[in-house]
Amino acid sequence: MKRSEVNRNNLSPMMQQYMEIKDEYENELILYRLGDFYELFFEDALIASRELELTLTGRVAGLEERVPMCGVPHHAVKTYIEKLVNKGYRVAIVEQLEDPKLTKGMVKRGVVEVYSKGTIADADLLNSKESSCISSLMLYDDILIMTILDISTGNLASLTIPNVIDKLINELMNYNIKEVVVKNDFDKKITNLLKTYYGIEITYNDLYLDNKYTKLLDSITDVRLKLGVEHLFYYLDYKVLKDLSYIDKIEYINRTDYLEMDIHTVRNLELVETLRLKERTYSLIWLLDKCKTAMGSRKLKTWLLNPLKNKEEIIKRYDKIEKLNNEFILKDELKKALYEVYDLERLSGKTINGALNPRDLLQLKKSLGILPEIKDICEKLNFNYEIKTFDDIYEKLSKAISEDAPITLKEGGIIKDGYSQELDEIKNIRSGGKDFVARFEADIKAKTGIKNLKVGYNKVFGYYIEVSKGQKDLVKEEFKWERRQTLANCERYISPELKEKEALILNAEEKINNLEYELFLEIKEFIKKEILEIKKTAEIISEIDCLVALAVCSEEYNLVRPNLNEDHIVEIIEGRHPVVEIVNKKEYVPNDCILSKGIDTLLITGPNMSGKSTYMRQLAIMSIMAQMGSFVPAKKANLPIFDKIFTRIGASDDLVSGESTFMVEMKEAQNAIINATNNSLILFDELGRGTATYDGISLAQGILEYISNNIHAITLFSTHYHELTHLEKKYSNIKNVHVSAIEENNTITFLHKVKNGAIDKSYGIHVAKLAGMPDELLQRANEILNSYEANKNKHNKTNEVQLSLNFMEDKKEEEIKEKITKLDVLNMSPIEALNTLYELKKECEKK
Ligand code: ADP
Ligand code: MG
Repeated sequence: MKRSEVNRNNLSPMMQQYMEIKDEYENELILYRLGDFYELFFEDALIASRELELTLTGRVAGLEERVPMCGVPHHAVKTYIEKLVNKGYRVAIVEQLEDPKLTKGMVKRGVVEVYSKGTIADADLLNSKESSCISSLMLYDDILIMTILDISTGNLASLTIPNVIDKLINELMNYNIKEVVVKNDFDKKITNLLKTYYGIEITYNDLYLDNKYTKLLDSITDVRLKLGVEHLFYYLDYKVLKDLSYIDKIEYINRTDYLEMDIHTVRNLELVETLRLKERTYSLIWLLDKCKTAMGSRKLKTWLLNPLKNKEEIIKRYDKIEKLNNEFILKDELKKALYEVYDLERLSGKTINGALNPRDLLQLKKSLGILPEIKDICEKLNFNYEIKTFDDIYEKLSKAISEDAPITLKEGGIIKDGYSQELDEIKNIRSGGKDFVARFEADIKAKTGIKNLKVGYNKVFGYYIEVSKGQKDLVKEEFKWERRQTLANCERYISPELKEKEALILNAEEKINNLEYELFLEIKEFIKKEILEIKKTAEIISEIDCLVALAVCSEEYNLVRPNLNEDHIVEIIEGRHPVVEIVNKKEYVPNDCILSKGIDTLLITGPNMSGKSTYMRQLAIMSIMAQMGSFVPAKKANLPIFDKIFTRIGASDDLVSGESTFMVEMKEAQNAIINATNNSLILFDELGRGTATYDGISLAQGILEYISNNIHAITLFSTHYHELTHLEKKYSNIKNVHVSAIEENNTITFLHKVKNGAIDKSYGIHVAKLAGMPDELLQRANEILNSYEANKNKHNKTNEVQLSLNFMEDKKEEEIKEKITKLDVLNMSPIEALNTLYELKKECEKK
């Protein structure tokens, strides 16, 4: 049965209401609250029953057939929402908007929450260590304006980038953007790519917000950036029903303030996940994230993906880390204090959007309670942070929220005794209904002087006052008692006071729950007023957390404070790759990396598996760590501040775009060559490996010469073409180094030690032997190698590249020689001989 084909006039009123709401939310699956369930109807029910494996039933709704229906229990709804959203659906929650007890006829219902990939504000549904963002994309000719919001924290940023798909994807990954909002006419090629390859939800919206959130909007002077915010806010406010009042500032991100790394570099260096398993474990962030709070973890990741270029800013971080290390007792105290802080950032977000629950308030209380201590420690450390302590909120929460408050809102148990007199009274009534009656009895006995008066209860009248016939005359008009029953020896009365109490006793439970909920909301409002300040403090706390984490790393991993130079030199003494060092079972061999004045390229040779790639990565990782403000894994480090890092490491086909290894390799190299400056770092690992040998050597040499002549970027260039090492003689800015290995009894031992000078052997066959190739095969390979080398020596040319290019000619010569020797000249006719001679001549000319 299709929703669109139903005759609505025949539907039950409740179902008609459903239809009206659904008309407004065509693109969402509607979860419609009925009693203890959230129900889905019509097509929504078919989808949900399939996706969530729910039983499809039907509901009588006034039609001949039953309407398809399925449902989920309300207490488990979150897991179902999460599943649906992850599968790419949007979900709208419909609740009753009025108290059914207070309304006649149909209760009003409406959408109260919409969930989609980018708009989840609920911390329970998010990974605590990842930020999760939504972005509006607006295209102006050749620039793209991105307005990025993490709705769970209210962090808003605006960023302008060139309209280049690779740059867009870099940013989408950098900010973990789950959903983009675009205008209807946005380039479909781009949106399709984002949707299919990157799982990003695309939302179309042509409308803008007007006259709301003016304070924030008025502060934005650039009209285009303002439109971006209005575009995003319209969608969030009107379509997703978010309250954006907790957003009071926007960060203008200028990409040129940060070290530029493309997505390949982030991947190749395994900064946030490993290449192979795509896991956080064994990535650099995994190593560095010693944060005590989730918000600290998120910030540290931002620092890692956005290393700084401003020397002063970097030095500020170093200074703080150094101070923390010197004051280790304070550092330990700070660590302990931070451990007490919950996710203040997301708690703030949840206070405004999403389902804040009483237990969240306990977390908030605990977090705020430790702020004075953190403030105190920071003062002792001379850190100039302005930390507010929110004593009034802390006190209120301490007094109000029960230590074992539940996560539910309407089942009581939230508020402590002593916080609200009214609540305490009702609670007393509930627990001590009898006590009250006894007290009331004694009270009115004393007041009225009626000695044998009794307070009793029956189902018909409820609570009553019973006076014996003998004392009946003592009941006075002014008591305002009302006679209800006359028995043989007594009269029964009710009094307004007693009736009032009676109602209280009987409804106590419900009243308690309602009042507690009201008080909870009141407290929430109280907190809301300070939410912008709490957010600011949360930001500071997460920064402190990051610095403490980096200080802890510096001790734990034996890192050193780098020196930053403006002389374009690299001086690393005993540098290490921090992750390989920790993860590998073997002893790590530290290595120097020196590019003194006038040298900008290291040409690295060495057998496979000797450690070339690791050595190159080591420098890049060290530079990134240095520029994010961290100490670095070395005995001594003197580094320039890089503007961009380019890497071409490892051979992985780009499965997504279907390009071959070689094409990807050339594109990445091209990107580096076009965009690198003399302040950049380039890592080219065995470039040219993906094509035929002579192509490969020629290209590698061409690229190397181009960089040396034109770019002067700091370049590490590893190669197994030792023919290239002669370039050192020709270019004064190129230096040969090699990773050493020892050859003994035809086996090879890797020393992983980088030394000056070149190596003249590849040891490929030795490595093949280590890999367990059959002996026979290895022997044959050795024979072939020997014959090549013999040939090479015979020609004894000086230029080695020339020499190797002659290999090909040699081969041709051999072939022709062989043909001539095989000729049976005596049995050839003159014509035949002439023809053969002609052929041979042509062949010689070809080469
Ligand atoms: P290559 O690029 O020369 O083939 P890799 O850099 O991939 O070599 O390194 C090969 C292996 O050697 C790595 O798995 C790593 O564990 C180990 N290795 C590399 N450098 C070192 C080092 N300095 N100390 C100890 N082990 C190392
Ligand atoms: Mg390698």
